[in-house]
Amino acid sequence: MPIRIETGDITRARACAIVNAANSSCMGGGGVDGAIHRAGGSAILEACKEIRRTKYSEGLPTGQAVATTAGRLPAKYVIHTVGPIWGRCGDEARCDALLADAYRNSLQEVVKLGCDSVVFPAISTGVYGFPPERAARIAYRTVSEFLKTHPDMRVTFIFHSDHSRRIFEKANGL
Ligand code: ADP
Repeated sequence: MPIRIETGDITRARACAIVNAANSSCMGGGGVDGAIHRAGGSAILEACKEIRRTKYSEGLPTGQAVATTAGRLPAKYVIHTVGPIWGRCGDEARCDALLADAYRNSLQEVVKLGCDSVVFPAISTGVYGFPPERAARIAYRTVSEFLKTHPDMRVTFIFHSDHSRRIFEKANGL
């Protein structure tokens, strides 16, 4: 299935799963993370607390992903993944690899949940400062690679502005 690209608010996305660009606390934050927790309600935070208590007491490692309910959101599940903070990975190649991990591990969660659709935000390109063109190429490449083995998955990238969407499209020659 071809990758879809949209402009909009991920909290309104009607998909089986949406991905949250979370931080390692998994307890909410700014940007898309704050928007998801606000719109989805306390059930998401409760599920995150449980994950912290049982699985990731030190916090969710960069590049990993976990699933929770989507609470009041139209989606069924939220996949929380932690993208790398640009400039804090050791070197740039490591940052690239961690961003690819965040996409890949999120997709793996989506498969485990039995979902056939997922919507991604532009992970790490907000306060985490990853250069958007570079992030765009990694995101697109990683998802394209995944789709070779999961051709029926419907993957959408959603951007908060037409400007960010254009950056993504241009970076990938779309
Ligand atoms: P990070 O900490 O991973 O950089 P941010 O939330 O700061 O995450 O930003 C990631 C991207 O998500 C940014 O490009 C930002 O414009 C975008 N974004 C913020 N809010 C929303 C939203 N409600 N829906 C879709 N994208 C959003």
